[in-house]
Amino acid sequence: MRRVIIAGNWKMNKNIAESIDLANSIKRSLYDVEEIEIVICPPFTSLSDVNEIIMDSNIALGGQDLYWEKEGAFTGEVSAGMLKNVGCRYCIVGHSERRQFFGETNETVNKKARALLREGLRPIVCVGEKLEERKADKTFDVVKDHIVNSLADLTKEDMKNVVIAYEPVWAIGTGVNATKEQAQEVHKYIRDLIKEMFDEETARGVRIQYGGSVKPENIKELISQEDVDGALVGGASLKCDSFNALVKNCLK
Ligand code: PEP
Repeated sequence: MRRVIIAGNWKMNKNIAESIDLANSIKRSLYDVEEIEIVICPPFTSLSDVNEIIMDSNIALGGQDLYWEKEGAFTGEVSAGMLKNVGCRYCIVGHSERRQFFGETNETVNKKARALLREGLRPIVCVGEKLEERKADKTFDVVKDHIVNSLADLTKEDMKNVVIAYEPVWAIGTGVNATKEQAQEVHKYIRDLIKEMFDEETARGVRIQYGGSVKPENIKELISQEDVDGALVGGASLKCDSFNALVKNCLK
C-alpha cells in the first residue's frame, strides 16, 4: 500500500513571523493524522524557524530547490547538505516555475535529485506538460521526456525515496484542475513508464502526487483514482483552514 503524501509548496510567500504562525496552526490542526504523510515547504528564510516548530511532529519539512554541488563559490545557492542540516527531509525539484523562469532543465533536475539522494533526502520530482503541448497531443511525450531524463541513472534503491509530482502547467495556480480522468490517465502512464525503466516492484511502490489547483473541494475525487497517491499543493497550502480541510478530505 502506498501512503498518501500531501505536500504544501509555499513558494515565495510568508515571512518568518507568518511562517511560524502557519506552521503552528497546521501542527495543531493536523496533530492526530497518522495515515497521511504531510510535508510543508516554506521559503529558505523560514526553514530553520519552521523546523523548530514541527520537529518531532507528524509533519515533515521540505525545501523548494537546491544546488547540486556540496559547497563552494556558488553565490545564492544552498546545497542538499544544508537542507538536511536545517531539518529538511524532502525537497521539490523541477517545479514548472523553475523550469519556466530559472532555466531548469531535465539535466539539472537530475543532478539535484541525485544530490538529495546522496544526502539521504527525498526529492519530489515535478513533471508536466504546458497547455499548448496538451493541445498538440504531446502530453505523454513531454511527460516521458521529463521522467526518463530527470530520473536518469537512478537505481531501484534510489527510487524508494523518490516522489513524482505530475503537475500539468496549465493547472498550476489557474483554478482549473485536471479532471480525475485526466490525472489518472497520466499517472498510470507514468507508473507504466517506471515499470519499463526499473521494474514492477518499483512501479508499484513509487508515489505519484497530482498538483495543479488542488483544493479541499476537488481532492476527494482526485485521490480516489488508483494511481493518484497524494497532492502537491500551492495556493491552498497557504492557509491553515484550506490545508487542514484538504488533508482531512483524504482520510478514508
Ligand atoms: C504548485 O505550485 O505546485 C501548485 C500546484 O500550485 P497551485 O496548487 O496553486 O495550483
